[in-house]
Amino acid sequence: MDRNQPSRMPCPVCDDPEAVWMPPLDDYRDVDCPSCGDVHLTGSAETLLNHKKALPGFDKKALSERLRGQPRPEGATRLRVDRDLIVALADGNG
Ligand SMILES: [Zn+2]
Repeated sequence: MDRNQPSRMPCPVCDDPEAVWMPPLDDYRDVDCPSCGDVHLTGSAETLLNHKKALPGFDKKALSERLRGQPRPEGATRLRVDRDLIVALADGNG
């Protein structure tokens, strides 16, 4: 497998099959999801999403919508998504 090419895999948040994952870099991945938007996913966030059943009240559709609604940093197209953000949004407080 060529790790230098983007690959199409289900979104880690909402399982959208059209999501595109960029090659891994250090401790994060960039994922472009048609539903969640373009995100910059930290390693800890990815780990948490691999165990999303551990998140109380996790609702992938709701989290996807909240991610999409988050303001992007000025001049950036990607939202940085770390563990804390996922926990906050999954809680419904985001
Ligand atoms: Zn998604």
